Amino acid sequence: MRKVLIVGGGIAGPVLGMWLKRLGMEVSIAEARPTAAVGEGAFLGVAPNGMNALEPLGVAGAVATAGTPCEAFQFINRKGDSIGVIDRSGDASAFGRPLTMIRRGQLNAILAEEAARQGVEIRWGQRLMGVDESHPSHVIARFEDGSESSADILIGCDGLRSRVRSLILPEAPAPSFTGLLDYGGFAQGIQVPVPPGINLMLFGRRAFFGTFVTPSGEIWWFHNGAPGSSDPEALRKSPDPTRERERLLELHREDPPWVSDVIRATPRLLGPWPIYDLHAMPRWHSGRVCLLGDAAHAMSPSAGQGAALAMEDALVLARCLRDIDAPSKAFAAFEKARRPRVDAIFRAARRNGSGKAVNSALSEWFRDRMLPFFLRLGASGQSKMYSYRLEWDQPRA
Ligand SMILES: Cc1cc2nc3c(=O)[nH]c(=O)nc-3n(C[C@H](O)[C@H](O)[C@H](O)COP(=O)(O)OP(=O)(O)OC[C@H]3O[C@@H](n4cnc5c(N)ncnc54)[C@H](O)[C@@H]3O)c2cc1C
Repeated sequence: MRKVLIVGGGIAGPVLGMWLKRLGMEVSIAEARPTAAVGEGAFLGVAPNGMNALEPLGVAGAVATAGTPCEAFQFINRKGDSIGVIDRSGDASAFGRPLTMIRRGQLNAILAEEAARQGVEIRWGQRLMGVDESHPSHVIARFEDGSESSADILIGCDGLRSRVRSLILPEAPAPSFTGLLDYGGFAQGIQVPVPPGINLMLFGRRAFFGTFVTPSGEIWWFHNGAPGSSDPEALRKSPDPTRERERLLELHREDPPWVSDVIRATPRLLGPWPIYDLHAMPRWHSGRVCLLGDAAHAMSPSAGQGAALAMEDALVLARCLRDIDAPSKAFAAFEKARRPRVDAIFRAARRNGSGKAVNSALSEWFRDRMLPFFLRLGASGQSKMYSYRLEWDQPRA
């Protein structure tokens, strides 16, 4: 097996590309976006387990330099009272790298640049439309621009709305909407009650608001809340930032005033991203084609693990392809190795997301009384996820 086509150059694609180059394979990535899209998206946290999966590729340092370590999560209610703290200041010494907050566009650009530097060909502006699996010895990909590409194997790293998935596994379930819309933005010049380096998480009266201040004083924020009577897909496809900013202000009307100040001070409202997850996939592969990252197992960002799992997936799939000759057997070994961990984190992400949008004062009262208990549980679960370590030299599973 020599020639690999990866579809999708977000997070999973470039990381897998770098691993497969190590195996001496000829690797191309077809990415639908016309460029690396440095300014795209909001921000995310790369968990220590994800950073550790990047370390042997020599790219964790660049991500750490571009990002900011998270020292703690502080949870507050709408009165501003603390309902719990998860101290993460020991993560660098415990796990090697801390949870690293970084702009999404910057992370994607670092991964793509490093993959290209390591010899992975990236074809920007190539949107996959079709896959021909009828040949026993190779697979053919067809693109929107009319071009074709053949490869020994094709790996779908094309995210939540994976075209590869719908082509090779038409029976796969559709992603399910979690009931939450995510918006975000970058603001400056507002006083928020948290020092730089701490993720401040507000369980508000009707919605959730996360804030992170960088050392330069920039405020990174996100909102999670219900879409109300709006159709989430219609909002995603044609957002109306003025109307939606008003809706966010209304949803946070009973929360501390600095929340509205931050929303108002944000030059460009980003999103919405309706939050979906994808579970109970019958399988992750078919013949010479395999899915990886969100294409195989998207989960809500409430566990902060989707990107890290995509990075882990890449390492494990590369190990399977290194140790097993037949692609279908390598893909089956990959899926078997990854399912238990992915399933456990999927369940945690669903649990974490469940109290973010409440619709009555009674449910708010009940939630705020239960939260300290759940946060204590969450802290130990988070450390368990972070401590997960994969080594390249281990055998495949
Ligand atoms: C609002 C939000 C916040 C999040 N926060 C976090 C967080 O803090 N921490 C964390 O670990 N995870 C977080 N996640 C999850 C994380 O973003 C995903 O798990 C991660 O991006 C998955 O990586 P991926 O490479 O599988 O998919 P993606 O990053 O989605 O990349 C897929 C790529 O495929 C390309 N593509 C799609 N279709 C085609 C096609 N037909 N042809 C060619 N290319 C195609 C896309 O353009 C894209 O570049 C968050 C997700 C959301 C929505």
